[in-house]
Amino acid sequence: MEKGYVHVYTGNGKGKTTAAFGLAVRALCAGKKVYIGQFVKDMKYSETKLIEYFNSLEIEQLGKGCFVFEDPKEEDIKAAKDGLKKIEGILKEGKYDVVVLDEATIAVYFKLFSTEDLINTIKKRKNSIEVIVTGRYAEKELIEFADLVTEMKEVKHYYTEKGVLSREGIDK
Ligand code: ATP
Ligand code: MG
Repeated sequence: MEKGYVHVYTGNGKGKTTAAFGLAVRALCAGKKVYIGQFVKDMKYSETKLIEYFNSLEIEQLGKGCFVFEDPKEEDIKAAKDGLKKIEGILKEGKYDVVVLDEATIAVYFKLFSTEDLINTIKKRKNSIEVIVTGRYAEKELIEFADLVTEMKEVKHYYTEKGVLSREGIDK
């Protein structure tokens, strides 16, 4: 079985989650099985409906809601830690060929778990699994550990430039 690699899509420009979902669709179309775990977010973005189109896809929300404007609560920390434990099981089991950990670096940023916890979890995977981590503020240890790192750089964004709010089907 071929070795799977670790990708990180980070940076403050738009496109991290959509790139991960784009790769997921490509993998699904090639007959692979894909699991997407979304940390922090509990809001259902449009892309979560993708499960209606693909049998070999699972998407789970591992977050507890929006604490972004306040300190994370005990339950946010528990949800993230439980989520990571669940990911460990999925990575050891090997049922999925591609595993996306959406906004996992944001969970680290809010101190729900550490980069070390995240790396140790990814290290336990069956060797053939491709892992994609997305989110802003990826720490240097994760960047060193990954095999592929892409930084989305904001050159312009219509939110900051023109006050355009998040639109369904485009941004959420
Ligand atoms: P997307 O989901 O569109 O690929 P992303 O994953 O790169 O974006 P996140 O940091 O997860 O970006 O952003 C969460 C939300 O903020 C999304 O609705 C996203 O479209 C929007 N967003 C992304 N980048 C920016 C930016 N530079 N300024 C304002 N809003 C942004
Ligand atoms: Mg994102």
